[in-house]
Amino acid sequence: MIELVEGDITEQQVDVVVNAANSSLLGGGGVDGAIHRRGGPEILTECRALRAGHYGKGLKTGEAVATTAGRLPARWVVHTVGPVWSDSEDRSALLAACHRNSLHVAADLGAHTVAFPAISTGIYRWPLESAAEIALETVTNTLSAGSCSVALVRFVLFGTDAYDVFREQADAMGLGGS
Ligand code: ADP
Repeated sequence: MIELVEGDITEQQVDVVVNAANSSLLGGGGVDGAIHRRGGPEILTECRALRAGHYGKGLKTGEAVATTAGRLPARWVVHTVGPVWSDSEDRSALLAACHRNSLHVAADLGAHTVAFPAISTGIYRWPLESAAEIALETVTNTLSAGSCSVALVRFVLFGTDAYDVFREQADAMGLGGS
């Protein structure tokens, strides 16, 4: 099931909150900054440990990795790195990979409920209409593939503009829901 809400992802009572991180994993602006601020220093401590281990060069675009959610109401944060929008190159497959890989990491944790922000649509400048189409299609396809334990995906859109665009795209895809 897919749900759309307008709001702040740091307030969501879900198993997993997905973070639109950058490859350094060491925090940034936008939703990343909000997650680290509200979640507290434990998240950054785990991110630093990831950088000291398997992710010495950082997290590649399209990949996903989990940490604690610290003080957030969620149990885990799954960090993924969205592609920066490009006028000259089609990077859609990387944006799709973010959503697919985040859901697989969430499923490996045993998560049933997952909240996503509109990955890449802030500092990385991806147009909302296109991001909504890729996000909704990829999540729908991943959930219906069967091997995924996740039962609910909630897109948490920051502001009415983002909400309206996702709503319109979901309606066009016949997703219905709330
Ligand atoms: P990116 O670098 O992937 O573009 P940003 O954090 O700049 O990531 O933006 C991604 C989306 O997250 C944007 O649509 C932005 O408005 C939104 N956003 C920012 N803060 C929050 C928040 N607290 N909850 C949900 N969405 C947020």
